[in-house]
Amino acid sequence: MAGFGFVGWLRLFVVVGWSFLLLTGCSVNPSVGKTLRVANEPAFPPFEFLGSEGKSQGFSIDLMNAIAQAANFKVDFQSVPFDGIIPALQAKTVDAAISSMTITEERAKTVSFSRPYFKAGLAIAVRTDNQEITNFDSLKNKRIAVQIGTTGAKKAQGIPGAQIRSFDSAPIALQELANGNVDAVINDAPVTLYAISTGNLKGLKVVEQLLTEEYYGIATPKNSVNLALINDGLNRVLSNGTYSQIYQKWFKADPPNLPAKSPFENQSGAGESGIFTSVGIILRSFPALLQGALVTLQLTVLSVVLGLVGGSLIGIIRLSRTKSVRWVARAYVDFFRGTPLLVQIFMIYFGLPAIAQELGFTFSFNPLAAGVLALSLNSAAYIAEIVRAGIQSIEPGQAEASQSLGLSSVQTMRYVIFPQAFRRMIPPLGNEFISLLKDTSLVAIIGFQELFRKGQLIVADNYRAFEIYAAVAVVYLCLTLLSSQAFSRLEAWMNPVKRS
Ligand code: GLN
Repeated sequence: MAGFGFVGWLRLFVVVGWSFLLLTGCSVNPSVGKTLRVANEPAFPPFEFLGSEGKSQGFSIDLMNAIAQAANFKVDFQSVPFDGIIPALQAKTVDAAISSMTITEERAKTVSFSRPYFKAGLAIAVRTDNQEITNFDSLKNKRIAVQIGTTGAKKAQGIPGAQIRSFDSAPIALQELANGNVDAVINDAPVTLYAISTGNLKGLKVVEQLLTEEYYGIATPKNSVNLALINDGLNRVLSNGTYSQIYQKWFKADPPNLPAKSPFENQSGAGESGIFTSVGIILRSFPALLQGALVTLQLTVLSVVLGLVGGSLIGIIRLSRTKSVRWVARAYVDFFRGTPLLVQIFMIYFGLPAIAQELGFTFSFNPLAAGVLALSLNSAAYIAEIVRAGIQSIEPGQAEASQSLGLSSVQTMRYVIFPQAFRRMIPPLGNEFISLLKDTSLVAIIGFQELFRKGQLIVADNYRAFEIYAAVAVVYLCLTLLSSQAFSRLEAWMNPVKRS
């Protein structure tokens, strides 16, 4: 330490001090540069969406930036799925959310809202050729697409006999309508009108505009200290004309008057807590989760059976003597193994009908058929490799021996190679089954109410993310443990030594 005198210590102190300040994100003046993490779901144009450079933009984004400037804080936008925003605020992983969230009495029990910053309402969208649906009452017994966890979804729940399909975002629900898979969409009017007017979705029209009157608010965790700061900024941009400018920019109109207070202020929290409440919530969710588990099992079994048939064929073709045939099977495996299952589901369910429509004929997919098709095409690629490896693992001497005993090559495969190879394939097939069982949660995206989506729907209703997702995990675990048990039994049963 020789030579590390006063100046050395001073330098060390300054460096450590600065690093600490940088790491903790603190600054010298606490009112300047306080950064709020603000959640939004950037799939709700013109309010919040991703621009061509991948940055969030829209009315809410401009407004939030103006509020931050007026109230002297910084914004760090975070993209969170709409139905995850309230759980994120409850968990305080974000400080606020500006995501076209309607101020409702129920939500106001769990989070706090700023004063209203936009007046909106729901509208019904149908295809232009639909003469039957003209108002809310004519939605009875119809197929309706909604975005999960929204006021539109709540409104749809009250329609007698309606078949409701829930999607992760409003654009997907509208695409469903354009593709002819549902009869109507209930969604926020400005968003539906914007999608139609920009020409992004063709052949849609709006009936019964402003079915409801709703106000959007900026949400914060319950009684957050930042609420006053946000309200202060909002008051300033409303009074200094910035709000009108932003409104003009996005809606080409003058803004309506907005109330000065949130319609449901100071709602007492939903806040029951404690182990008994949690257990009660889980128990109440169980019947719905079990229904979802049945759908999950149905999807898995159907897809595995079809995948097994397809995969065995492709696996055998992979061993063909003709190079071009081998190449086709190889390309299949590479494609389905090398692209995300989620992309394949989207391509099949949304892509195929859209292409068919461009070509001039209507063709729509039943979600079960689309889900099973995507899952089995995908699992066939993996199963093909399992089958190929299984067959190749049998020593060539065996084939030679059976052929010298006079068996044909088909007989050799059937009686000698395949039975032994199949035994070796059971453990990797078990793995594939379990992966597939978990992957079925991806088809929730096409509006399938399997186990995971059932959980999401319950959370969208009661905002108890932890309890419900823990219960969902337990049900998945039971299913996978039972399947791995079944595969171990099958393995033991197929082993002639153990069986005897
Ligand atoms: N305003 C609707 C709601 O609060 C939808 C908001 C959204 O999808 N971003 O439920």
